Parts: sequence; C-alpha cells; structure tokens
Amino acid sequence: MNKANKSAQKAKLKAWREGERMKAQNLFPLADSRLQEFFEMLEKLRAKHGCFHDIRHALHVIQAMRLAKEDADGLLDWCNQHGGYCDCEIAANTFMHWHENRVRT
Ligand SMILES: [Zn+2]
Repeated sequence: MNKANKSAQKAKLKAWREGERMKAQNLFPLADSRLQEFFEMLEKLRAKHGCFHDIRHALHVIQAMRLAKEDADGLLDWCNQHGGYCDCEIAANTFMHWHENRVRT
C-alpha cells in the first residue's frame, strides 16, 4: 500500500471512530455534566463503603441528584447496557464507556 492510500485508510478509520463516538454520545441518558456528577458521587460511596453487589449507591446518588423517574430509568438501563449491574461495575465498566466516548473538554 502506498503512502497516500495509507493516510486515506487512517482518515477513514478516524472518521469511523468519530462516528461511533457520536452514536455513543447520542445514547447518553443525561448531559455530560450530570453524568460526571453521578459517577463522582457513586465512586465516593463505593470507595468508602464497598460494593454490595447491588445498586444501592447508584440509587442513593440518583435520589441526591433529584432525577425524574424517566431520567433515572434511562440512566439505569444505560448502565446495564454497558456492563454496570452493580455499583462497582457501574463505577468501572459504565464509567469507562462514558469516559471514552464523552465530549472532550
Ligand atoms: Zn459490584
């Protein structure tokens, strides 16, 4: 493959990755600022109390954030879809998904 082809391939790959990120972003259940709040509070509770193999900390944070029921449901569904079935998984798997795809600031 010559150089021009290689850079064209690279550009295509980059465009594809950007597209995937945009798709992921469109499925975020809340604004990035609120997701940041959610993950930060969750991580604090998890670090302090550990994980009980349920989502009690996540539910506590949702309450503290005063999310509407639809927003809370959407958020928890999204956590499930991205490997977050308990507090420590949300803090690891779902957080990574968000971190990798969120709008760069
Ligand atoms: Zn856990």
